[in-house]
Amino acid sequence: MSAIEQNLKQVLANLPAGVRLVAVSKFHPVEMLREAYDAGQRIFGENHVQELQQKVGLMPKDVEWHFIGHLQTNKVKYIAPYISMIHAVDTLKLLREIDRQAARCGRVIDVLLELHIAEEETKYGFSPDACRELLASGEWRELKHVRIRGLMMMASFVDDQEQIRSEMQIAANLFNELKQQYFADEPSFSERSWGMSHDYPIAVETGATLVRVGTTIFGEREYA
Ligand SMILES: *Cc1c(COP(=O)(O)O)cnc(C)c1O
Repeated sequence: MSAIEQNLKQVLANLPAGVRLVAVSKFHPVEMLREAYDAGQRIFGENHVQELQQKVGLMPKDVEWHFIGHLQTNKVKYIAPYISMIHAVDTLKLLREIDRQAARCGRVIDVLLELHIAEEETKYGFSPDACRELLASGEWRELKHVRIRGLMMMASFVDDQEQIRSEMQIAANLFNELKQQYFADEPSFSERSWGMSHDYPIAVETGATLVRVGTTIFGEREYA
């Protein structure tokens, strides 16, 4: 068994039924994605449009590609034809552009709203109140080519497990609130994307349905 296959199996063994693994393959060569694919992995997460485009051309057609990073509105058009899920929608403007490009492709694109709960200043995303306001404004209901599937967040990059847990719990509570208020009749609003290599076990405990794990599967990234 290859190292990647072994790592993958180990992560999967920690995930209860109902939690899906996004294998975060950014900065890793396509040979490594192929190894994970051969071991059965089908969902891959990337965060650079150009790199993603190259890999899409080289990987089998049944891969489910998730865009997990900050997405510039002017790049949506490149990935709209095939992307399975866009995790980090952080402005209404981006949501509108995804809708527009999805319409041009005759698609409905699944998206998650990115929350900013972590203490780091540099992170993108809606504060819980901004997220409430976005949904209260109602414009998203007219965007027929995007389907809001749930919430995404990154916890603070700290050692303090209780801080990570409390940030994830804030996201989980907000998910429940929004579910009740806006999506009670929509089973498709069901996804909670949080948890990375260092904190995905806590994510699972706080109700994540998608964990985004890179380093634990593929090793350290080399930023060329
Ligand atoms: C890179 C990245 C991950 C994976 O991080 P690891 O620590 O390598 O598991 C998860 N989510 C997002 C948004 C990322 O950019």
